[in-house]
Amino acid sequence: MTDLWSVDDALNRILQEVAPLPAERVALPDSLNRVLAEDIRAEVNLPPFANSSMDGYAVRAADVTGASRDHPVSLKASMDIPAGAAPERLLCQGEAARIMTGAPLPPGADTVVPVEQTDGRWTPGGHETLPSTVQIYRSAQPGENVRQIGEDIRAGHVVLAAGTLLRAQEIGVLASLGYMYVPVIRQPRVAILSTGDELVDLDQPQPPGKIRDSNGYTLAALVQTYHGFPIRLPIARDNLEDVRRRFHEALEQHPDLILSSAGVSVGAFDVVRAVLDELGKIEFWRINLRPGKPLAYGSIQGVPFFGLPGNPVSAMVTFDIFVRPVLCRMGSRAEHTPTIDVITGEDIRSDGRRSYLRVKLTPHENGQLIAHLTGTQSSGVLTSMVQADGLLIVPEGLTHVPAGSPLPVRLLRYINQ
Ligand code: AMP
Ligand code: MG
Repeated sequence: MTDLWSVDDALNRILQEVAPLPAERVALPDSLNRVLAEDIRAEVNLPPFANSSMDGYAVRAADVTGASRDHPVSLKASMDIPAGAAPERLLCQGEAARIMTGAPLPPGADTVVPVEQTDGRWTPGGHETLPSTVQIYRSAQPGENVRQIGEDIRAGHVVLAAGTLLRAQEIGVLASLGYMYVPVIRQPRVAILSTGDELVDLDQPQPPGKIRDSNGYTLAALVQTYHGFPIRLPIARDNLEDVRRRFHEALEQHPDLILSSAGVSVGAFDVVRAVLDELGKIEFWRINLRPGKPLAYGSIQGVPFFGLPGNPVSAMVTFDIFVRPVLCRMGSRAEHTPTIDVITGEDIRSDGRRSYLRVKLTPHENGQLIAHLTGTQSSGVLTSMVQADGLLIVPEGLTHVPAGSPLPVRLLRYINQ
C-alpha cells in the first residue's frame, strides 16, 4: 500500500495473470469481428470444378486453331450447359457446348470462346434454342476463360489461421467452404458496477445533491468498443450490505471480469474497500499516474477485478491503460495502441507522475501535429474527453515540458495526418 507503482510495472503484473478465453461455436452470420479460435483447413477445392468465367462456347482449343472473322471455324453445337448443371457427356472433336458463366466445363473441353467471338446470340435470361452449328471467330489457348479447380483454395491447405479477425471477406471464405458454425474465442463478459450514494440512473428522478451515473454507461460502451459483452448492474449504495449484494449479483452473471467505479479512495464512505477485503484478494495500488492514482486490482472469487476511480475522466483513462489490454488478451486480439508522435503547442507543467493530458491536435504546415491542451484537466470534466483527439503522455519524472517538445499521444479518434 505504501509503494507507488509505475504504470508499466502495474500493467505487466496484471497481464501476467490474464489468459485468452476458450472457444465457442457461433453461427457464421454472428462471427463478424470475432477472432477465429482454430485453423481452418479446407476439406474441398474451391472452385470445386473447372468452370467458365464467360458466357460463351466451351471447345477444344485444338479445334479452333487459326479461327478468325474472315475464316471462322464451324463447330457442332452439341450441348447446352446452364449454371448449376453437371455435364457428363464428353465434348467430342468438332463440337462446342454453349456454356454460362460459372457452369462446369464438360469433359473434353479445355477452353471457352466468349459469345461475342461467335455468331451465337445470347440475351441474358433468354431461352434461345441451341443452334445446330456455331461459327467461332477466334482461336483460343487451352485454359483461357476457365477457372481451374482449386484455383482459389486447395483442399488440405490452411485457409484461415487461428487468431484471424473475421471480416466480411473471411466470412465469405467460410461460407464458400460450407461452414454454418465457426469456432471463435469467447467474448469477455464484463460486469460493471457503479457505486455511490450520490448516483441516480437514467430512469430515476434527479433530486438535489444527486448526479447521473455516467461511468456505468461510459464503461459499458468501452467494453463493447473492445469487443467485450457488458453487463451493467444496478447502482450500489455506499453501505456494506448494498455493495456486498451487488458484488454477489455480479458474480451470478458468470463474468470474466468485474469492473467497479468509485469508492476505492480513502474517503469515509468508501465501503467498497471493506467488502472487497471480505470477498476477494484485492490490492489497492497507488499508481504513479495522473489522472487515476488510486486503482484497486485483484480477484473476487477467482474473477479478475478492477476498482476504477470514480471521476469520469480517471475511469476512462485507467480503463484505456489497464482494462483495454486485459480485454484484448482475453479476446486473443492484437492490441494496437494507436500512439503517434506530436509536438507540444504550449509549456506544460506536470507533477512528476506519468500524466495523460487531454489534447486537441492540429496539423502544422511542416507536416507535424501540434498538441494543445483542451483546457481544464480536471478529471471530473467529461466533455474534455469529447473535445480531445488524444491523450498526451508526459513521462514520469518531468515537471516542465517546454512548448515545441516531441511527445507521444495516445489517440482517441482517427486522425487523418
Ligand atoms: P469517489 O471515488 O467515490 O470519491 O468519486 C469521485 C468522484 O467521481 C465524485 O465526484 C463522484 O461523484 C464521481 N463519480 C463517482 N461515480 C460516478 C459515476 N458512476 N458517474 C459519474 N460520476 C461519478
Ligand atoms: Mg463515492
